[in-house]
Amino acid sequence: MITMKFGGTSVGDIQRLQEVASIVRTYLPQRPIVVASAMAGVTNTLLETAQLALQRETERVKKNVEALKEKHLNVANTLLKDAVRHRELIQRQSALIDELANLYRGVSLLKELSVRSIDAIASFGEILSCLQLAAILKDNGVNAEFVDARTIIRTDSHFGEAAVDFSVTDEKVKSALLPLIGKEIVPVITGFIGSTEDGLTTTLGRSGSDYTGSIVGAAMNSQEIWIWTDVDGVMTADPRYVTGAKVLSEISYREAAEMSYFGAKIIHPKTMMPAIEKNIPIRIKNTFNPPHPGTLISQSTNTTDRVVKNITSIDNLSLIAIEGNGMVGVPGISARIFSALARVRVNVMMISQASSEHNVCVIVPQKDCGKAVKELRSEFDADLAKKIVDDIAVQENVSIVAVVGEGMKGKRGIAGKTFTAIANADVNIVAIAQGSSELNISLVVEQSEVRKAVQAIHDAFHLT
Ligand code: ADP
Ligand code: ASP
Ligand code: MG
Repeated sequence: MITMKFGGTSVGDIQRLQEVASIVRTYLPQRPIVVASAMAGVTNTLLETAQLALQRETERVKKNVEALKEKHLNVANTLLKDAVRHRELIQRQSALIDELANLYRGVSLLKELSVRSIDAIASFGEILSCLQLAAILKDNGVNAEFVDARTIIRTDSHFGEAAVDFSVTDEKVKSALLPLIGKEIVPVITGFIGSTEDGLTTTLGRSGSDYTGSIVGAAMNSQEIWIWTDVDGVMTADPRYVTGAKVLSEISYREAAEMSYFGAKIIHPKTMMPAIEKNIPIRIKNTFNPPHPGTLISQSTNTTDRVVKNITSIDNLSLIAIEGNGMVGVPGISARIFSALARVRVNVMMISQASSEHNVCVIVPQKDCGKAVKELRSEFDADLAKKIVDDIAVQENVSIVAVVGEGMKGKRGIAGKTFTAIANADVNIVAIAQGSSELNISLVVEQSEVRKAVQAIHDAFHLT
């Protein structure tokens, strides 16, 4: 059994959908379980339209809803040969679009858009996409069945990025899918979405369909989890920004998790976790080039021929520096910083402390910077007054660059080579951190210089 997740571009147009049908047919002997995303761009449109509805931009909302309808109906009209199946799909898609339009109307009327409503709206992309994919597969002679993940993926009510309740989910996945597999039916499961105990729709975070693929694959004890996307595999850097990026034939779970955490969009960071638990290999494959073996992500990694595997970056961050000569030797400062940030649910991307201890830097997402600083100022109010802390300073528009590879552990000179490359590229380093795992070196640069920095390090390690 192989769980196959198809990403947005893989189900993004008529030609791709035909390719997906052919891939699924090819692998029928391996008993595929299919998980799919919304068609490329649809989730963005759904979310942008929600904002338009909130601003009562009625005409633009109407136009976007019409465009979504046309996009999906066009697929049905072009690809479905069976008249009954075609009619049924058109009816279901049209009813869903009507429901979506009603939700937008509600948002406009109430002038209110909660995180809960956003998740309900976002879920339409995967539902529309998977209903049509199941129908297309059937039209191609594959015995397929649509499965709404909200009936099997149980989450908490942290809308926008809900946490999965694995004990409930694993049972639900098995009891829903095993009977289908037993009847040689290919389940077509909506990625990205789940539901709370009360039946409210949640999402697993942007790009969360990868995670769904791995949750399902692990619950079903699949032999492998395949993530079908639009590149040949995990590359040494983001091919859109770095010239000469190369496909890696294998990497470890830890390397994949580290690089995705630091912004490599190729796979969602949480995807590795369920797979690690069951030791199930993940393979990245290209729908545009199916024969390519792709990248195997597993427990082990080849650390001999490539010490550094990947250079990645993450943008739109702010650096907050808590500084003061009085902080030296005072216990508990870092703990108080983290507690304060945790109270306002701000994710600390990176921390760096100079050994002199008079400066602690935390890197946080720019969108959270305001509330982070406010909470820190209130936490250190008394210390600021007593000059134990001199200042809480902010530098906006910074990026983290991360150099990732398991083979870096214990290897000398990696940091030196990284910093020399950056200096030669005339890029200023704002802060540095190295985790004790030695799996990555991360540094902060100004966002305007990040591309230059990534390319320079990539070139220095001869990844090209
Ligand atoms: P999908 O819609 O299939 O989920 P995504 O757009 O989420 O696809 O992810 C695939 C994209 O990730 C690639 O097209 C590529 O531009 C980008 N990407 C970023 N970093 C890397 C990397 N290190 N290796 C490969 N692709 C990367
Ligand atoms: N459609 C969702 C998104 O765009 C989930 C995914 O594609 O993985 O974020
Ligand atoms: Mg993705």
